[in-house]
Amino acid sequence: MDINLNAFDIPVPIDHISFALGNNKLHQLDILRLDKLHDKISGNKWSKLKYNLLHASQLGAWCIVSFGGAYSNHLHALAYAGKLFKIKTIGIVRGEAVNNPTLKDCVNWGMELHFVSRKEYSALLNNETTNHLSVILEGAYMIPEGGNNDLGRKGCAEILQHVDAEQYDIICCAVGTGATIQGIAKSYSGAIWAFSPLKNARALKQSLDQSIENCRYIDEYHFGGFGKFPKEVTTFSKWFKHNHNIELDKVYTAKMFFGIQQELIKQDVPHARILAIHTGGLQGNRSSIPAEL
Ligand SMILES: *Cc1c(COP(=O)(O)O)cnc(C)c1O
Repeated sequence: MDINLNAFDIPVPIDHISFALGNNKLHQLDILRLDKLHDKISGNKWSKLKYNLLHASQLGAWCIVSFGGAYSNHLHALAYAGKLFKIKTIGIVRGEAVNNPTLKDCVNWGMELHFVSRKEYSALLNNETTNHLSVILEGAYMIPEGGNNDLGRKGCAEILQHVDAEQYDIICCAVGTGATIQGIAKSYSGAIWAFSPLKNARALKQSLDQSIENCRYIDEYHFGGFGKFPKEVTTFSKWFKHNHNIELDKVYTAKMFFGIQQELIKQDVPHARILAIHTGGLQGNRSSIPAEL
């Protein structure tokens, strides 16, 4: 495996949009278009993989294994990275075997998939079991679900190199495992609004509250929870695309931008300079079946 870490050191565009807040009020917003980083490994997933791939290669690991749901942007990105950097990848997928565009890509790019029950999934994730899979995975380099480890967070600390972060009063980012925002917080001291599509994710809220000063965990806009997409979300995405010519992913960024607009209507922060991070994930929009956590 030959990892060229600079392969993705490319400028990422920043868009400027205005949000209508009613009463003829507008609020300017900058958007860091991490979704434009690469057409396959888009958004924050490259940041989380970067140092993990390097470490795996330094260790001479024969394979990289990671975990995710059937629509996982993380597994999708890892599979492509495996193809690009010529290293074998294995994806442990939670739940019954399905065939969707995400997993089809993974297989086409050479990832070996194993579907396991939720129970087995948690046990494997926490290294609490030995079964046929643990034997297969011996000597493999393990990346936790969502790339949420120290090396993943280290990569995310570099995300703000694309912008002059200190000019912003608030940075908005969608959260799943929280790795991205924890990385970002290492290189930014202003306020952070963490938009969560998860319902009742108390452990996540607690860990972000404890690890990041100045972090507002906002989960009012989960729309029923992870992988739930009521019509309001789709309508908002269509409106956003029509108005700003930016596609949002339905799992994370559509809910976040909806939330940002609502918060700007509710909160009185008329002069706040805001940067919202478009973390990508657009590959997931191809699946019409709702994703599940
Ligand atoms: C994975 C993902 C996130 C969440 O990132 P975490 O580091 O797990 O918090 C946010 N947005 C998109 C589009 C993602 O794919």
